Amino acid sequence: MTAHPALLWFRDDLRLSDNPALRAALDHGPLICLYILDTATQRRELGGAARWWLSRSLQALSQAIAAKGGELLILRGDPAELLPDIVERTGSSYVAWNRRYDGAAIALDRALKAKLTETGVEVESFNANLLNEPWQVKTKADGPFKVFTPYWRAVREGGEPSAPLPAPARLSKATLPAALRKQALTIADLALQPTAPDWASGLRDAWMPGEDGAQDRLGTFLDEGIAGYREGRDRPDKLSTSRLSPHLRFGEISPRQIWHATRGALETGETPGSAADIEKFFSEIGWREFSYHLLFHNPDLASVNYDRRFDAMAWATDEAGLKAWRKGLTGYPIVDAGLRELWQTGWMHNRVRMITASFLIKHLLTDWRAGETWFWDTLVDADPANNPASWQWVAGSGADAAPYFRIFNPVTQGEKFDPKGDYVRRFVPELAKLGDRFIHRPWDAPASELKQAGIVLGQNYPKPVVALDFGRRRALDAFAALRSE
Ligand SMILES: Cc1cc2nc3c(=O)[nH]c(=O)nc-3n(C[C@H](O)[C@H](O)[C@H](O)COP(=O)(O)OP(=O)(O)OC[C@H]3O[C@@H](n4cnc5c(N)ncnc54)[C@H](O)[C@@H]3O)c2cc1C
Repeated sequence: MTAHPALLWFRDDLRLSDNPALRAALDHGPLICLYILDTATQRRELGGAARWWLSRSLQALSQAIAAKGGELLILRGDPAELLPDIVERTGSSYVAWNRRYDGAAIALDRALKAKLTETGVEVESFNANLLNEPWQVKTKADGPFKVFTPYWRAVREGGEPSAPLPAPARLSKATLPAALRKQALTIADLALQPTAPDWASGLRDAWMPGEDGAQDRLGTFLDEGIAGYREGRDRPDKLSTSRLSPHLRFGEISPRQIWHATRGALETGETPGSAADIEKFFSEIGWREFSYHLLFHNPDLASVNYDRRFDAMAWATDEAGLKAWRKGLTGYPIVDAGLRELWQTGWMHNRVRMITASFLIKHLLTDWRAGETWFWDTLVDADPANNPASWQWVAGSGADAAPYFRIFNPVTQGEKFDPKGDYVRRFVPELAKLGDRFIHRPWDAPASELKQAGIVLGQNYPKPVVALDFGRRRALDAFAALRSE
């Protein structure tokens, strides 16, 4: 060990356990833990809900680091300039980080590695956030996968993921130069939380960002939620999924940790989940891996159709429809409930993400990128891989995508997956008094029933923005025209 400090650059890995870059940095000298709010690179700027999450997650990380004797240094600016500057001013001889996989981040990291290495600094990067590096999983022809099932089979044939690393007991702390200490920002200085207006109260009620929150969430899921996950995961009216997605997005927990905790709980009988539930849960983690595989091989996944035939798609420009969709005022209860859940809590159930996305893309014939952008701004788990990959999947333009003629009917989907309307009533209070029979199609309810429920369609709950038959027909025609080109 040298007396030179080792610099650990935190990014999308805001945790102390199973953090390989942290483990390596600790072996190289007294530690400088650094977070930079990147305001300069070509990376996509975080949306509002993700910024809120980041602020809370940094608070949790900073407290966890302090509790172990370390300190989190926070800066804002261009990492391409800041990082080499900090390395020089602190005399660091070693820099470590965990990898990110979007194109801009890869380019930045590569350039930084080259620049620092040139000046004699040792730089190491690690995989902390995926079970497999996106380039490691290959088809027999040595190329990337386009279809999930063979991709996942190849991953499973590779065996179980490696065991996660424990959190270090103590963190050594390097002494910072006084001028650098002066430059350090507080989390509040980053101004990540909304103020005027403060729209985050629903988010505060719903979530506990940070490593402890992630572990709690996993524990609760393994104790209660995972039983029946295989079928139950489609039910938005129940607490049927783990809700680990924002914790995974910010790297507060790793897929390796989730995997081994789940496997361990099954083997010791500490979870009511069956082997089939757990296999299904693992395959959902697998979809996340597959999205990263796609993003790595298609860096412009958020802006360019994976299937370029979709470039010729004749999207409608329905500004009023898009606005109604964003606000959860389409007149279709399950769609509105989903978009309001998103607005209130920063999260939406997967089944409802599919229904709302299908409605926007197909019934309103709106370019998937408009929906992807809205989700990017409003989801706490807005993810550079999962979000565009999933939107393209629903649109039919993605890899292994849903076929174009698969158009979710929001009424039958609602009746199937929210049979008593509990989910709708929770998020669309205007409909709370409507009986089960018409909860997913209030326009069919007799006038007396609407009156009794206090609903005046077109006044306190909208009439449908588009007729389902019309929307479906128009979408089928547009998609068919595309196919015949
Ligand atoms: C239009 C659309 C947009 C989406 N945008 C995002 C996004 O920005 N961020 C995001 O994390 N997920 C996104 N998803 C995928 C999925 O909806 C969420 O990951 C899931 O709802 C998160 O809830 P959970 O943690 O309770 O999931 P669980 O069912 O408990 O699954 C565990 C984990 O597996 C992963 N996962 C589950 N389902 C999927 C899936 N279909 N695709 C990829 N990974 C999956 C997630 O990391 C999730 O946390 C999107 C899906 C759709 C249809």
